[in-house]
Order: sequence, then C-alpha cells, then structure tokens
Amino acid sequence: MKYVGAHVSAAGGVENTPGRAVEIGAKAFALFTKNQRQWVAKPLTNESIAAFKENLEQAGIEPKHVLPHDSYLINLGHPEEEGLQKSRDAFVDEMRRCEQLGLPLLNFHPGSHLKKISEDACLSRIAESINLALEQTQGVTAVIENTSGQGSNMGFRFEHLAAIIDQVDDKSRVGVCLDTCHTFTAGYDLRTMDDCENTFGEFNNIVGYEYLRGMHLNGSKAAFASRVDRHHSLTQGEMGLDAFRFIMNHDAFNDIPMVLETIDETIWPEEINLLYSLIE
Ligand SMILES: [Zn+2]
Ligand SMILES: [Zn+2]
Repeated sequence: MKYVGAHVSAAGGVENTPGRAVEIGAKAFALFTKNQRQWVAKPLTNESIAAFKENLEQAGIEPKHVLPHDSYLINLGHPEEEGLQKSRDAFVDEMRRCEQLGLPLLNFHPGSHLKKISEDACLSRIAESINLALEQTQGVTAVIENTSGQGSNMGFRFEHLAAIIDQVDDKSRVGVCLDTCHTFTAGYDLRTMDDCENTFGEFNNIVGYEYLRGMHLNGSKAAFASRVDRHHSLTQGEMGLDAFRFIMNHDAFNDIPMVLETIDETIWPEEINLLYSLIE
C-alpha cells in the first residue's frame, strides 16, 4: 500500500492537522509541531496532545504515516559550539514533542558546515548530535532528509547519508527521507524510468532501502544538478512524471509516509489523486 499526503498547516494547534489531511484526501501527512522559524515554543498542552491523538484516530491515519518536520533553524552539524548546542537542545525538544504526540518519526535536514569545518567533520557532528538525541528520548526515529546541496548544506550525496548512519550507534532509530526535488537537483536524474532505476538502485546500494522511512514528493523548478532547492507542482517543472510513476509502482515505497511539499496547495487533492492514478 502507498500512503500519500501533504505537509498540512498546524495553525491553531497540532490537533487541527489530521482533519486538514482528511479534507484533501490524504492517507499520510507532515506537520511542524512548533513554529518552524522560532527557536523556542511553548510546550504542547495535555489538551492539545489528547485532541491530536483522538483526531488522528478518527482520521484513520496511523502514527507511522505521519512525518513531523523539525525547525529550519536547527543545524546539527554546526561548526561552532554555541550554535551546535542550541541546535542540539532544540532538536531534543522536537523529538520530545513527537514522543508526546505518539509519533515515531522526526524528519530533519542534516546540517551545514558553513565553510568553517570539513565535510567529514560536519557529518560526524551530525551523527553525534543524533546519538545524543536518541540517548535522551525513546521511540522516535531520526529521519535524515537528503538535500539539494545548496550553500554548504550536507546530505546531497547518498554517501553523506550512509556516513551519518554509519556513525549512529542505534541503527534501529535512524532513517532517511528522500525528497524527489532535492535528489534531482543534487544531480541524481529522475526524468525517465531508466534514470529512476539507476538513481534508486544507487540509493539502495549505498544507503539501503531498509533505511527509507519517508518520501517528499515534489516537482523541481530548478534545473537538473543545479544544487538549487526550488519545489514545483508535480506536473510542472524540470522533472516530469516518470519519477512519481516509478515510486508509486515500486514496493520499496510501501507503507511509508509520502508527502507533497509542492507550491500550490489548492491543487493538493488533485495531486494526491494523480499519484494514486499512476499505480498500474
Ligand atoms: Zn523536503
Ligand atoms: Zn526543498
């Protein structure tokens, strides 16, 4: 089974997200459990947590098909001690919020070296940040998202993801989320079925499908291998539909949340229908 949805708004409280997912015909969804542009957020209230769980059950969506996304400010590979500590503290808070909501996954962008430390040193810092967070929490898997490689962001090569996982102590609680736009703009082609076979085959060889815990399904406004992160609607942009046809028909993508972060949310219901219609 395929579980497709979108990154829905948590405006008014996280408890509103399952209903918003149902409205657009989603079987999975993503959310921010706090304002993604602020460091500190008020703790979730007991009322909000209880309402979220109740609404999720009513929506008929399983917790494993929800893919919370952490704050954009967090950099787990930060080259400087102060920025690193602030990021690690905020990340543990994000993990705890997932714990409270009964959600087993937390999706995050790996981190950036800011041109102050080497790529390898940055990857080791990210892995150590994950180790520290896993030690302090229970039941939540850290899901590393691949990136376009814009600026000094790490995670744009499958080897980066593998190097981080290799240095994480508890392999049962680390996973990967592949974003189709990021994959494509990082330089892994997805324009034809053969390209998809090669790209995802390479992912399986270097990282392994067993670590795949989620997908972000996005078209790309930016050109192939441009290292620029600009999402587009599925039927527009540089990539075409074969990537989505491949994903919707391949067993490696069964039973994981697959979430739209496309730019026009008014067409999410159509995009979700389109994805299901690609199943042969
Ligand atoms: Zn993404
Ligand atoms: Zn992106």
